[in-house]
Amino acid sequence: MNNLFKKKYFLILIQFFTLISFVFLIYVSIGITTKDPAFAKILRNTNLANLIVWSYWWPLIIAISILFGRFWCSICPMELVVFIGSKIGLKNKPNKFLKSHWLITLFYFLILIVGIHTFQIHRIPQLMAIYLIFLFIFAFVSSLIWEKRTFCTYICPIGHLLGFYSLISLKKLSVKDKNICEKCNVKDCINKKNDYKLIGRSCTSEIYPAKMKNGKDCILCGQCHKSCKKDNIIIKNKNRSNYLFSR
Ligand code: SF4
Ligand code: SF4
Ligand code: SF4
Repeated sequence: MNNLFKKKYFLILIQFFTLISFVFLIYVSIGITTKDPAFAKILRNTNLANLIVWSYWWPLIIAISILFGRFWCSICPMELVVFIGSKIGLKNKPNKFLKSHWLITLFYFLILIVGIHTFQIHRIPQLMAIYLIFLFIFAFVSSLIWEKRTFCTYICPIGHLLGFYSLISLKKLSVKDKNICEKCNVKDCINKKNDYKLIGRSCTSEIYPAKMKNGKDCILCGQCHKSCKKDNIIIKNKNRSNYLFSR
């Protein structure tokens, strides 16, 4: 796995593939709608896009996070959109309100109460497609405003949830030898000059790999695998004795 993460274009190609898959899902869901609650229930269990998103993709990314960490984030198409937006955008620093995580709480409220309970986005394909389009647009617009991966760190409700599940996962990213980091002068993994590189970016989730403990906020993007010229980054099994209580 570490070898794959070091490959220059491996993850980004999969991100393109997932992006195309989501565009396809949105495309085939547009126009499939109903006002009949009974038929909406049937659509939930028979429409292919519904099945892929709610029956397979959603439970699968949660199960993967619980077992292995935030591997969905490694190939998430929205991260690609966020990267493009932040590269050309205003690059403002996130403010106190964003850092308080209130926006994520608001997002959950909107998805659960308004999206699922009121509009039934989990049953009506067209509304699910509109929800996905909204997420992509919101991710892009916010990345035009705020620097680096602010959307992933302080706004994305999916990533936040996966971060909590990943607390009990078996794997985490770490450095092989902290002494090498101490002696490393360039520190490419956090060097500002690498902030907006497509490949070998510094950690735009504000993490210094040598000091990371539980990996909750690490989206396993694999950028530090590529930026570290000393080949000092590794995804390995967690030390189970302290994984819940360290940060
Ligand atoms: S935090 Fe959200 S947007 Fe960022 S990579 Fe994870 S799921 Fe995608
Ligand atoms: S992870 Fe690599 S680039 Fe970062 S400080 Fe350690 S040796 Fe240097
Ligand atoms: S430490 Fe940062 S750069 Fe490295 S995989 Fe995690 S989020 Fe990506």
